[in-house]
Amino acid sequence: MELYREGDPIRDEAAPDGPIETRWERRKFAATLVNPANRRKLTVIVVGTGLAGGAAAATLAEAGYRVRSYCYQDSPRRAHSIAAQGGINAAKNYRNDGDSVYRLFYDTVKGGDFRARESNVYRLAEVSANIIDQCVAQGVPFAREYGGLLDNRSFGGTQVSRTFYARGQTGQQLLLGAYQAMERQIAAGNIAMFARHEMLELIVVDGRARGIVVRDLVTGAVSTEFADAVVLASGGYGNVFFLSTNAKGCNVTATWRAHRKGALFANPCYTQIHPTCIPESGTHQSKLTLMSESLRNDGRVWVPRTAGDTRAPGDIPEDERDYYLERMYPAFGNLVPRDIASRAAKNVCDEGHGVGPGGLGVYLDFADAIARLGRHAVEEKYGNLFEMYQRITGEDPYRVPMRIYPAVHYTMGGLWVDYDLQSTIPGLFVIGEANFSDHGANRLGASALMQGLADGYFVLPNTIRDYLATGPFPDISDGSAVASVRAAVEDRLGKLLSINGDRTVDSFHRELGRIMWEYCGMERTEEGLTKAIALIRGLREEFWIRVKVPGTGEELNQNLERAGRVADFFELAELMCIDALHRRESCGGHFRAESQTADGEALRHDDEFSYVAAWAYGPVPTLHKEELTFEHVHPSTRSYK
Ligand SMILES: Cc1cc2nc3c(=O)[nH]c(=O)nc-3n(C[C@H](O)[C@H](O)[C@H](O)COP(=O)(O)OP(=O)(O)OC[C@H]3O[C@@H](n4cnc5c(N)ncnc54)[C@H](O)[C@@H]3O)c2cc1C
Repeated sequence: MELYREGDPIRDEAAPDGPIETRWERRKFAATLVNPANRRKLTVIVVGTGLAGGAAAATLAEAGYRVRSYCYQDSPRRAHSIAAQGGINAAKNYRNDGDSVYRLFYDTVKGGDFRARESNVYRLAEVSANIIDQCVAQGVPFAREYGGLLDNRSFGGTQVSRTFYARGQTGQQLLLGAYQAMERQIAAGNIAMFARHEMLELIVVDGRARGIVVRDLVTGAVSTEFADAVVLASGGYGNVFFLSTNAKGCNVTATWRAHRKGALFANPCYTQIHPTCIPESGTHQSKLTLMSESLRNDGRVWVPRTAGDTRAPGDIPEDERDYYLERMYPAFGNLVPRDIASRAAKNVCDEGHGVGPGGLGVYLDFADAIARLGRHAVEEKYGNLFEMYQRITGEDPYRVPMRIYPAVHYTMGGLWVDYDLQSTIPGLFVIGEANFSDHGANRLGASALMQGLADGYFVLPNTIRDYLATGPFPDISDGSAVASVRAAVEDRLGKLLSINGDRTVDSFHRELGRIMWEYCGMERTEEGLTKAIALIRGLREEFWIRVKVPGTGEELNQNLERAGRVADFFELAELMCIDALHRRESCGGHFRAESQTADGEALRHDDEFSYVAAWAYGPVPTLHKEELTFEHVHPSTRSYK
C-alpha cells in the first residue's frame, strides 16, 4: 500500500542570504513598518500563553496591535512552560570561558545533528543575549553569584557555562515575567484574554488564515473569532506517547487542525527522549516526571558493573560501578547531549545492568558533589528537585542515588515555517515548540525557553509586521465559508458524543502511547514502524466505533476535550511513523537500528537525507523536501568523546 508520495521540493523564500552575521539585521530592516495609527486597526489572534505566546501577545500589544489571546488553562500563567526547570541558554559569556554567539550557533547546529537551518540557528544565538536583559528588566529572579552577577551552569552538549537559571523553577519565573507583561496590556485594553477556550479549527478565507473556531470549555459554546493574522504558540505534541514529561493537557490539536487546512508539518518523527526522568512505576500513572538536566552538572550516572546485581547502591564498592558516560565520552562525560545519554541508558539496561523495578533505571548519584560542595550548596542549587523526587519515590536523594530512566520530553518537529516564522498558509505564524524551526533532530537542554522567548519577544514582532502591512483584510464574518467551518466543528463534537461505545478515551490514548513508545520511541526499525502504522490504523477505526464520551457538549466536559485531542493524536501518530519510516538514517533523537556505526552510535546519511521533511495533509501524505545547506558548520560525525 502506498504510504506517501513525493511532491515538489520547497524553499524558504523568506531567508536572507549574504553574511550570516547580518542576515537578521537586514531582514528586520527590509520588513515593512506599520505606522502606529494603523496598528490599532489590525487584530492578531495568539493561541497559547506559554513563553512563546505570552511573550508575543505582550510585545504585539505593547506595539499597538489589537491582540486576542487564547489558552485552555484557567489562567494564562498555567501554560506548560511553567514546568520548565533547569534554565535558559544565552551567549553572554559571563564566565569568560570561551562562549560567543558563534559558539552557541555551532553547538546548536551540531547538537541538532546537522538537521537544522543555519540562518535560523544563528539568529537564535544572536538574539539570546537580549532575552536575558529583557527578563532581568522584568524582574525575573535569576540566580546570582556572590558578587551579584548572574550565575550560569552547564547543560548537555556544551563545554561552556551559558545556562541562566532560577533554581529549578526557571520556566515559572520566566512565565511570570511574560504574564505580567501580558497583564499590563490586558489592563490597558489591548489584549482580550480568553482563558478556558480551546481552538478547534483554523479559519482560512481566500487562502489566508483569518481566524479560529473555539469552544468555551466551561459553557461548551462554540464561536468563530476573526483577525488579520493568526499566531499559533500551542506547544509540543509529546503526549502522543500518553506517558511523557509534558503537562497532561498538552496536545496537537491546534497545529494538527492547521495542518489539515494546508499548513505543512515538518519532521514529525523528531522526538526528544530525556535521559533523566523518574522511571515509570505502574499503570496508574498518567504522566512522568522530569529530573532536570541541570542535575547532570553535579550528579554522576552509573550502573553496577555486574549484570543482575541487586545489592543496594551503598553496598556496591567504587570499583564495581560503571560510570558509563564518563567511560564512553570522556570529553563531555555526564554532560553529553540528551539523545546520546538516553540511548546509553537504554543500552546498559538492555544488557542487564539496570537498577530498580524491572531493571529500567540507572543511578544519578550526588554523593561526590555533597562531599565536595557540602549538602547546603547542593540544596541551594537543586533543593526543589530533590524534594520533588523524594515526594514521588519516597527515597531521599541526599542519602541514596536517584534512579532515572529516559522518557519522552520534547518534540523538535512541528508546523513548517519560513525564516519569518510564517507557515505555508499566508497569515498563519507559528512560534515556540509548535514550530519545527531551530533544533534539528535533537534539541540541546535549556534551548527551548531560549527559542520560545526569542520567537515571542524578538523575532515574530519584527516579521509579522511585513505581513500585516498588507492588511487590514476584508471583513469575513458573514461568509458562508466561515459558517461551514463552524458547523463542521459542531458536527465532530456531536459525533464524538453520539458514539456512546464501551471504551474510555484514556484507554485508547494509553494503547496508542504504548504502540508509539514500542515502535516509534528510542529505537525504530522498518519492521516495527510498518507494524505500528497498521496497529494505529486499526485502533483509530476502533476509536470511532467504541469510544465512550459521557456527558454533554453544553457543559464542562473533560472527556469530550480529551476525545477530540486523542482523535488528532491518532492522525499525527501515523504521520510520525511514516516520517520515521521514510528517513532511513539515524540522526539525533531519531535512531533507526538499521543505521548505526560499529560502536552503536547514530549513523547519518547526509547524501540522501540532508533535508527537512515537510508533509502535506491528504489521505496519502505528500512529502516536500527542503534541502539544508551548511556553509559554516560543516556536517561531521558528532563526537562527544
Ligand atoms: C518538565 C519539563 C521541564 C522543562 N525544562 C526546560 C528547561 O529547563 N529549559 C528549556 O529550555 N526547556 C525546558 N523544557 C521545554 C520547555 O518548557 C517547552 O518547550 C516550552 O516551555 C514550550 O513553550 P511554548 O510557549 O511553546 O508552549 P507551552 O508552554 O506548552 O504553551 C502552550 C500554550 O498553548 C495553549 N494551547 C495549546 N493548544 C491550544 C488550543 N487548541 N486552544 C487554545 N490554547 C491552546 C495552552 O493553553 C498554552 O497556553 C521543559 C519541558 C518539560 C516538560
